[in-house]
Parts: sequence; structure tokens; C-alpha cells
Amino acid sequence: SEVIKTQNLIKHYFLEGSYIEALRGINLSIKKGEMVALMGPSGSGKSTLLHILGGIDVPTEGKVLVNGQDIFSLKEKSLARFRNKHIGFVFQFHYLLPEFTALENVMIPIQIYSKEKAREKAERILERLGLEKRLDHKPSQLSGGEQQRVAIARAVVNNPDIILADEPTGNLDSRNTEIVMNLLKELNEKNNVTMVIATHDREVAEYCSRIVYLKDGIVQS
Ligand code: ADP
Ligand code: ADP
Repeated sequence: SEVIKTQNLIKHYFLEGSYIEALRGINLSIKKGEMVALMGPSGSGKSTLLHILGGIDVPTEGKVLVNGQDIFSLKEKSLARFRNKHIGFVFQFHYLLPEFTALENVMIPIQIYSKEKAREKAERILERLGLEKRLDHKPSQLSGGEQQRVAIARAVVNNPDIILADEPTGNLDSRNTEIVMNLLKELNEKNNVTMVIATHDREVAEYCSRIVYLKDGIVQS
């Protein structure tokens, strides 16, 4: 069944007196359990599309249906609830909270468990990502690649139905790329998590079941 559907998505940015057409009519249909690589040159609209699919940016025109729900018809609170429940974001700028440790950052989204269970769950996922010796480090004490893996742990710890990732392996070496992609693949295969992963990396695309190419804000067929 269809988990994400977009209808004629258009996004214009207004910058210094002129329009930038970041998305120019995107019609995409993504089935449950698909793992989609979103590829295309820099500036082709990948980040913009991911932001809109996750409801953190609004389209100028068009709709995003998630499980049939028109997400931009939701009021702000419902949209926020929807995001927390269903969507895990992995973004380039990982937005880790600097005053919290790696473990605490990963525990932030966990709400339904006791503190003890949340800690166990967060520890397990950090260990899975090879960060067992970094639990009590703050982001500033971690390398870029380690920060990226903490951000990924935080994105997946709540068992989202959908993971939206923007260059998730952008500053990782190939060993860490493999660790991260194996985890994402496992979540995809075992938990049927639907994924859209913007990437420039062919190695990353090879883990995916489909490649969607964007160019100048349009899907190339
Ligand atoms: P990418 O690495 O995917 O090409 P960018 O580095 O171009 O992404 O953009 C990173 C973020 O900066 C975007 O998510 C967007 O919000 C913002 N951004 C990009 N281009 C502009 C711009 N021309 N003006 C303002 N903000 C921008
Ligand atoms: P990609 O992720 O493929 O690099 P983006 O979605 O970041 O592409 O950008 C698509 C286009 O929209 C680019 O021309 C970029 O400069 C522009 N853009 C992105 N974010 C903003 C923003 N916040 N303000 C103005 N222009 C933006």
C-alpha cells in the first residue's frame, strides 16, 4: 500500500526580490517498505522535498498524503504529533543538543517508556552503531562521524514508520557508511520501515530498492 504520495508539489522560495523554483511539480508514490534513494545534483531540490515530506516545510502548492492523510490540512499541534509518532529525521546539520550527552540526546524522543527502559533502548542502539564508549560524551567531544551516528540513533530509536534522511553518510568514511547503511537496511527489512534517503553516494544507493532522480525540481523518469 501507498505510504507517501505527493500531488503536484511546487515550492518557490522568495529570495532578494526573485523566485527560486525549488520544486516544480513533484508526483511521487512510495509504497510501504520501499527504500528510496533520492539522487540528483546539488540544488536539485532534494532537501526541500524531504523537508516537505516530513511536514517541516510547507509547499507553495500541492499535497502530501501520508497513509492517505493530507498532512498540511492538519493543525500545527496535530502535525507535530504526527511527526513525532511516524517520522524519523536524519539531517545534514544534526541538531544534537550541545549540553546533553550522546545517551541523553538519543533518549530525548523516547516518551512511552520508563526512564530505565528508555536508557536501555538508547544504549542498545548506540552500541549497535559502535558508540558504546561514547555514551557520556557531549557532541563537542565527538568526531563529525560520531555525531552523525548519534543523530541517526536518535532518529530511529522511536521506531518510526518512515525515515527521511538527508545525506545520512555525508561525513562518514566507508566503514561507518557500512555500519549506518546496514542498520537502516535492517530496520527496512525487519520492521518494514519506509525510507527516503537523499544521497550523492552510489554505495548508499545500492542499499536501496529504488532510485528517484531529481533535476531542477523535477523527477526524471
Ligand atoms: P545541499 O547540501 O543539500 O545542497 P544546501 O547546503 O544547499 O543543501 O542547503 C542546506 C540548507 O540551507 C537547506 O536545507 C536550506 O534550508 C538552506 N538553504 C539552501 N540554499 C539557500 C538559499 N539560497 N538561501 C537560504 N537558505 C538556503
Ligand atoms: P539539494 O538538496 O538537492 O541540494 P535544495 O532543496 O537544498 O537542493 O535546494 C533547491 C533550490 O532551492 C536551490 O536553488 C537552493 O538554493 C534553493 N533553496 C533551498 N532552501 C532555500 C531557502 N531556505 N531559501 C531560498 N532558497 C532556498
